[in-house]
Amino acid sequence: MALLLAVAYCVIVGIRLGLTLLNVRHLRRHETVIPPELAGSVDTVTLQKASRYTQDRARFGVVTTLASAVVVLAFLFGGGLALYDAWVREVVSGFVLQGVVFFVGLALLGAVLELPLSAYSTFRIEARHGFNRTTPGLFVGDWLKSTLIGAVLVVLLSAGGLALVRAAPQTWWLLAWMGFSAFGVFMMYVAPYVIEPLFFQMKPLGAEDLKADVERLAARCGVRVGRILEMDASRRSSHSNAYFTGLGRVKRVVLFDTLLERMTRAEVLAVLAHELGHWKLGHVTKSLVLSALLSLAGFYLAHELLAFDALPGLVGLAEASFPARVVIVGFLFSLAGFPLQPLFAYRSRTHEWQADRFASELTSRPADLGSALVKLARDNLSNLHPHPLYAAFYYSHPPMIERVRRLLPPAAAERS
Ligand SMILES: [Zn+2]
Repeated sequence: MALLLAVAYCVIVGIRLGLTLLNVRHLRRHETVIPPELAGSVDTVTLQKASRYTQDRARFGVVTTLASAVVVLAFLFGGGLALYDAWVREVVSGFVLQGVVFFVGLALLGAVLELPLSAYSTFRIEARHGFNRTTPGLFVGDWLKSTLIGAVLVVLLSAGGLALVRAAPQTWWLLAWMGFSAFGVFMMYVAPYVIEPLFFQMKPLGAEDLKADVERLAARCGVRVGRILEMDASRRSSHSNAYFTGLGRVKRVVLFDTLLERMTRAEVLAVLAHELGHWKLGHVTKSLVLSALLSLAGFYLAHELLAFDALPGLVGLAEASFPARVVIVGFLFSLAGFPLQPLFAYRSRTHEWQADRFASELTSRPADLGSALVKLARDNLSNLHPHPLYAAFYYSHPPMIERVRRLLPPAAAERS
């Protein structure tokens, strides 16, 4: 059985690598083709830059996929889990404390293993393509902060979860689900005020006329804008974006300074109209409900699987502690979740189409969103020629060309 699971895992890794190769080959074949919609706004130099960037990222993706496959196989099937489990049981005692040490140790190990990959991505790939603005000091500071925050969360959640397992062996899955969900909602409220300021500086948007426009646009959708903030994203990277946060009717708008630098007012408003569409059309609420239901099913299933005597045998172990069993269940979930990935991506792309249509109707100027998307893709060196299968599997947003094609009337596209 252990062999079968290891083979299933390798097949998934193989499919991921295959999709990446397919995508790169497709790009190489089309890298000099300027789609007619973009004639005039994208030149061959930009196209080649985007192609090199995509290929560099793809090569890096292959290396990280292979590296993490080696780690996962060695840990689960090569004796790593058994050793680690025995070590934790030797150094601490007590059900909850053992579990907390087990999970925090794993989280820290993960953060340490990820560090060189993340440094390579930032200081080699991103820097080579002109995106990186992070200094080594800022990078290390970010890593320390996020590792520390992650460790605190793991301590809180694992201590709470394990205490419930101990206290209510039959119903902990329901109680833990309620606790984790409540904690998730609490974090959605608190993160913008507690976590984000640790990494970014936010200042109220200075441009008064843009502010008034944003408020007017939101008011037309029945959304009240609390604060409009400009975030100093440019300290780290020149990639650009914008988003809304906050549950309920009062929203907070965050605009990257990099976005404000490059877009016209009409384009910024078009991007925000798209984001408003996600709220207005219920995408955010639906996604929250869906993930709550899925996690309820996940907790119940985990409860059943954890009690299954033969569980350690699935990775070739004779016995395993409760936290080690949780790791095995997590592995099974990741295998089962793989075929669901394209379904979730498809659902997300459907929402993007709807939000694009909503923005076009709200502003009555679809061309503004179209040109904003072209600028975003151009400035972020997005791949303009993804392989259809790769895009269907991974893309949470429809490929930019397809979105622009629906937004810009053919005549306007030819003119621009
Ligand atoms: Zn969207």
